Amino acid sequence: MLNKLLAFFLLLPLYTCAITINIGVYTNLQITSILVTQQSGNYYLLFDNSIKREIDIEAVYFIFSVDDSIIVKSNQQLLGKFKRIEFKEIVPSVLKMRCILPSTSSKQFDNNLVLFSEKGSLKVRNEVELENYVAGVVEMEAGSNHTLEYYKVQAIICRTYALSNLRRHEVEQYNLCDNVHCQAYKGNNRINEQIAEATIQTKNLVMVDKKSELITTAFHSNCGGQTCNSEDVWGMSKPYLRSVRDTFCLRQRNATWVKSVPKATWAEYLYQNCKPCANDTSLLCCDFDQTERKTSLNYSSVQLPLKNIRNDLKLKSSFFAIQIQQDSVLFVGKGYGHGVGLCQEGAIQMARAGLKYNYILHYYYKDVDIINLNQLNFFKD
Ligand SMILES: [Zn+2]
Ligand SMILES: [Zn+2]
Repeated sequence: MLNKLLAFFLLLPLYTCAITINIGVYTNLQITSILVTQQSGNYYLLFDNSIKREIDIEAVYFIFSVDDSIIVKSNQQLLGKFKRIEFKEIVPSVLKMRCILPSTSSKQFDNNLVLFSEKGSLKVRNEVELENYVAGVVEMEAGSNHTLEYYKVQAIICRTYALSNLRRHEVEQYNLCDNVHCQAYKGNNRINEQIAEATIQTKNLVMVDKKSELITTAFHSNCGGQTCNSEDVWGMSKPYLRSVRDTFCLRQRNATWVKSVPKATWAEYLYQNCKPCANDTSLLCCDFDQTERKTSLNYSSVQLPLKNIRNDLKLKSSFFAIQIQQDSVLFVGKGYGHGVGLCQEGAIQMARAGLKYNYILHYYYKDVDIINLNQLNFFKD
């Protein structure tokens, strides 16, 4: 607990109740040059932690890396060679940024930006208020055309995830990256007012377990009618990640699937993974079904975990039946994803049916509390 407390204060500068989180952006690219302009608000520039300079609101700042330094130009004029440049907001502000090499489309980022060079490649860090970050992630993870209530569900999930994973990129000097490795984030949410509203209405709300620890907010696309216990998929038992029945997702896009595999491929798979099964050809005649989720395909004394079959044969889920055909084996499946935690297509339908965000979250995450961050003990201290 003490470690978590320390981590929180080391990583999160707190000021006037706003929480700032550091996100590495363009982390999947090797950038060597970038353009930055002020979109709105008001900034000043800070070079190498010491030289302060007013921003020219009309200017385009061209920044490129040379070894472990950066060179900054503004409107063709050389401003100098530095180790680091920071765009610091004076009032709530937005910057626009576009990579030149490699070329990207422009994106907007709230709050502050820090740029420095490492081995000839530019590193960019967005020091962003937690709620602005949450809105940006919900836009990426949830997509458009959903209800306000569903966006609230996603906002609480994304906020809880962010705060419980603050040390994921400690070595790289930021909290989270902008890829699906952490949570997809492509700058600020610019289009969807419902997302902005959902973020405001759930401000600071997170989910905790009975020990008041932030929960693992697993979610997936469609559970196929029943979610999984966490230990059945990851070997890690969490009291709130329990298998529940779900009828809301049954007629949705990812509710069912079929994949045909040549019989020879399946026979070879069985031989590789379960030699006793393969020697007995009767398995190749046996159908298999799951009305309730099972964890393994049992044959005599051998058990083949369904999650392994899913991974190895690249199936959409482990909730499948097996039907033996003449020359092929049909995998007839339900759902899409690992099946642990919240079922997105189910939650979307619950929200459309008028159910509230807290009902939906409690349905998929058992015995959790939705609380304000300020209620967490380490925050109070
Ligand atoms: Zn990451
Ligand atoms: Zn479902």
